Order: sequence, then C-alpha cells, then structure tokens
Amino acid sequence: MTDVYAYHHAPRHLLTRRQLRAKALRPGGQEPVAEIRWWGGQRVAYLYDVDRALPVREMTPGRARALAAAMLARRTCPGCRAVRDYCISRRHGLCQPCVDGPGHAGDDFDPSPAWR
Ligand SMILES: [Zn+2]
Repeated sequence: MTDVYAYHHAPRHLLTRRQLRAKALRPGGQEPVAEIRWWGGQRVAYLYDVDRALPVREMTPGRARALAAAMLARRTCPGCRAVRDYCISRRHGLCQPCVDGPGHAGDDFDPSPAWR
C-alpha cells in the first residue's frame, strides 16, 4: 500500500516525475512509493524516491567520446598546438609556456633565469 499525502505535505525526498525531471532525474524503473492527492482526491500525482532515481542522460560510448574530445580540445593550446595535462586558461587562451613567452617553452622551463 502506498502512502497518500496532501498537496505540499509530502516528504522532501519524494518527488513527482515532473520534479525529478527538473533535477535531470527520472524514476529509473521504480514503482511510485507514494502519491499526493488534491482537489478532494480528484487529482493524483505519483511520488518517487529521489535516492532511487537515475540521471536522465545515461553515459553512452558516444557521449563519453564526445566528452573526451571536448576535454582534449580544452587541453590543446591554440598557440603551439601542444596537448597539456591541464585545461588551457580561459583568461589567456594559451598554455603556460605560451603565456610566459619565448625562452620559456618546453619542459626545460627555468623558473629563475634572471641571474644568467
Ligand atoms: Zn601553447
């Protein structure tokens, strides 16, 4: 037997399908755990346990590839085309060696060149 609540009196962790959708969630195959009734019981909405809900967007191989490609693009410096192990700074739009300028490029970065 499912619990029945009056409108606005359902526990916080129980959401309607529409409320789940607003959080990018879906019931995920679970049966409604409760229902809310209003208009003297003429209107009913089913409630789902948010803890058992699943994300609307499942990670598919295609989506994973697209995400990986997007991350690779964010790590590729438009200045030197090098793929860095960090995301290119939005502020500079270049990797750190490019921002630092000639003489600092590459892995032989010397943090104290002034005394030379
Ligand atoms: Zn660069």
